[in-house]
Amino acid sequence: MYEKEKQSLIDCALELKRCRLITLCGGNVCVRLADGNIAVTPSGLDYEVMTADDICIVDSMGKRVEGHRRPTSDLDAILFIFQKMPGVNATIHTHQPCATALGLIADVFPACLVSQIDALQGDVPVAPFTPSSDKGMGELTVQYANGSNAVILRSHGVMAFGSSLQIALYAAVYLEEAAQTYLTALATGRQVQPLSPEMVKAELGEPDSWANYLQT
Ligand SMILES: [Zn+2]
Repeated sequence: MYEKEKQSLIDCALELKRCRLITLCGGNVCVRLADGNIAVTPSGLDYEVMTADDICIVDSMGKRVEGHRRPTSDLDAILFIFQKMPGVNATIHTHQPCATALGLIADVFPACLVSQIDALQGDVPVAPFTPSSDKGMGELTVQYANGSNAVILRSHGVMAFGSSLQIALYAAVYLEEAAQTYLTALATGRQVQPLSPEMVKAELGEPDSWANYLQT
């Protein structure tokens, strides 16, 4: 079952790899399915060799429904996010270098670029450190999200999410691009001008304008 959905996780992970947001078997991709079960990438398996049979299907409590692999070690955190954020149907966890670097030196990535605002809704919060493979990753993501489509996890990586896998993917990739641009500007030593709340609102436009912009 779920062959199309399982393949979409692998396609997403390979795109993340092409964009250099993940390496080898780092990170994970998870989708809440129409029946409430959750499809998750397995722990410790290179995405290049992953097939649909390797994807794990669990119920909302994490009990195995289908698949023979061990699910991602971040499953407890992912389940917590799905439980507490009913509008979220997909999560992407990465160790993407530029956004993670930014989390080492700042408490927030202030809204200053249009692609950041479009894909992430504005400021991107930085959550304090919590160990990997710990439910705390999910608890801090929910606590710090504040309307953003991603949270930077200090000294670890990024948790991106959205109502669809496409929206979560764009959040992760555009966050990395924006963080690289922001870090490049910071490296000049000159002051970086964030956008005002009015400018952010003007860029955001109508509710759901970003979701309507994306085509499948
Ligand atoms: Zn991680």
